Amino acid sequence: MRGIALVTILLLAGFTPALGNATAQQPDIVQEQWYHSYLTLTLDVQAWAEDSPEIVLLTVAGQTELGKNLWVIQISDWTQNTKPDGTQKEIVYIDGGHHGNEHLGTELAFLTAEYYIEGWAAGDQDVIDVLTTTELHILIMLNADGNDIDTRWNLNQVDLNRNYDHYWNTCPTTQPGSSAFSESETLANSNYMNTVVPDADLYVTMHTGVWIMLYPWGKWPDQPSDWELFHGIRDEVHTNISDIPIQNANQGLYPNCGTSRDYGYGVMGFPTFTFETDDEQWLLGTIEPLSDRLGEELDVMKYLIDNVWYWRARLTIEEITIENDVVNFDVVNDGRASTRNATLQYLNEETDEILWQSNNFTVNTTSSTSVSTNGFNSDNGVWRLSYQKRIINSAQWVNETVDEALVSIIKVEDDSFLLGYGLFNPFSLIMTLSVVAILKPELSEVETLE
Ligand SMILES: [Zn+2]
Repeated sequence: MRGIALVTILLLAGFTPALGNATAQQPDIVQEQWYHSYLTLTLDVQAWAEDSPEIVLLTVAGQTELGKNLWVIQISDWTQNTKPDGTQKEIVYIDGGHHGNEHLGTELAFLTAEYYIEGWAAGDQDVIDVLTTTELHILIMLNADGNDIDTRWNLNQVDLNRNYDHYWNTCPTTQPGSSAFSESETLANSNYMNTVVPDADLYVTMHTGVWIMLYPWGKWPDQPSDWELFHGIRDEVHTNISDIPIQNANQGLYPNCGTSRDYGYGVMGFPTFTFETDDEQWLLGTIEPLSDRLGEELDVMKYLIDNVWYWRARLTIEEITIENDVVNFDVVNDGRASTRNATLQYLNEETDEILWQSNNFTVNTTSSTSVSTNGFNSDNGVWRLSYQKRIINSAQWVNETVDEALVSIIKVEDDSFLLGYGLFNPFSLIMTLSVVAILKPELSEVETLE
């Protein structure tokens, strides 16, 4: 009876936008109890884009095998392309619906988008802060063909989450397709990752099956290179938000290859989670309202999104001391991921030629290190930090200019002076010489102190 009643409501109310009133969304009774079809999702994302153009851009990543659009909603304060301080916004990528019979996972992707869109409209300051500094890219329903007939597979009976080009078909697995990316849905998803969101610092792929969050690897039982980052997130979620198990996918579930999670981490270098919402499959609706049922999961998502700034290494230099040809500096990591093979470089500003670079160094999560390298014999250059955002080989490299206004650069070229004064009065040495060194490096002889 309940199912029939819902179908009636859907027919009477849910379809009205198609008749020309695109701003009216489904009434909550339908939205909260009835899982999305491709058609109702299409109406909802179009209504969002029409109602909230300042924060919602609607685009397509490609088409399913049957030609349905793979809608991606891009949510941010689009009146500004950067953060207020001019730096690049953080980027979050989310997808749902790899498996067409895992509707709660698809709905969690939908609810995440809805939370930020409705929060913006309501003037929620936390949401405004996130959308001012962050871009959310959400592909809610990847397997729209399978979704509408409530099946795991796509049109070609392929398991889309075994079809990615990361150790494709190298373990006992369900139907992985004829080759990696043989299916239009997975090819489109990987194209979107590579071309639109290669800078993402969080990728969450949403499923239904066992209540668990899985981080890489599925292929191997080993912990990933960035285990510190994943374990740190696990511990914070458990302390503050939810008891949901958070494990390496291979151990937490079973060995699986060619997944979007392993591809997202192993090839793209994203910190990646598979979010399995529940054990329910094969149902078309829920008696408990979705926003109640998935409230705890949404809280975990808010935590992951609110803190995306931390999901990489964030190096800053606090002081550079140059004694003769030796450069000493302290580097601090404010992020929650480690990095190695980092260098401090001194560049010709016009040609980008590297005039000098430090020895490679490693900085662990929320720690600092001191580095000392000789061979410095340059002038009129600029300082730059070059490092990978995470340990995994595929992690993105960043080149970040060192803001000399924030750095005390001490140039000393007379050892005898150091023995007489510098060791006993380092503070005045820093204060005086750092300013002189920045403005006029050639004047930074000891005599300038007097
Ligand atoms: Zn799944």
